[in-house]
Amino acid sequence: MVQRLHEQGIEDSLVLDIMAREPRHLFLDEALSHRAYEDTALPIGHAQTLSQPWIVARMSELVHEQQPTRVLEIGTGSGYQTLILARMVEELWSVERINALHRQAAKRMRLLKAHNVRLRLADGGHGWPEAAPFDVILLTACASELPEPLLSQLVEGGVLIAPLEAHDGSQWLTRVRRCGESYEHERLEPVRFVPLLEGVIR
Ligand code: SAH
Repeated sequence: MVQRLHEQGIEDSLVLDIMAREPRHLFLDEALSHRAYEDTALPIGHAQTLSQPWIVARMSELVHEQQPTRVLEIGTGSGYQTLILARMVEELWSVERINALHRQAAKRMRLLKAHNVRLRLADGGHGWPEAAPFDVILLTACASELPEPLLSQLVEGGVLIAPLEAHDGSQWLTRVRRCGESYEHERLEPVRFVPLLEGVIR
């Protein structure tokens, strides 16, 4: 899998090393775990998906570029992206709105001894005010409009990395950098994510 990611343009050796080491199959149901190292998104239940390895690698690379110490992730999902980030930053906060996924991810973080991760069941649109500000905020679900609280929880010069929906419905991986009270948007590449939704499902 990692060789293929490299061929597909992922150059960050720390990201590749971490992904070579960490067990992606533990983030899937047993019935699907034999497909864990294919380059594809896979279902994790509740109409959600484990992102394909390439996008996890790409987003991790973008996070690492910032050399962050404090990172917030919105959309824990299976927890796989969470684990990869946990291995490269000092402190990580991750929010999920579906209780069943949140609890499963918490179990996996304990099993894999990712002690620098704090998970919360909540609507990630509010961010994590008590832990703010963050060097990087990463969304793993697609927003049509960025929730304002998220942007205000970035440090000066910090970045938010997120799939954003354009007016024509296409989705673009986007990097938004905080410069004082203004925000610079940079469109990176086309992507396909499940939508960012409001509210919590217990
Ligand atoms: N990185 C995850 C991606 C899971 S899909 C993985 O690879 O497993 C995106 C996740 O975002 C889903 O679990 C979905 O429930 C969650 N999500 C969507 N809107 C959200 C919101 N407002 N707050 C928190 N989580 C949200």
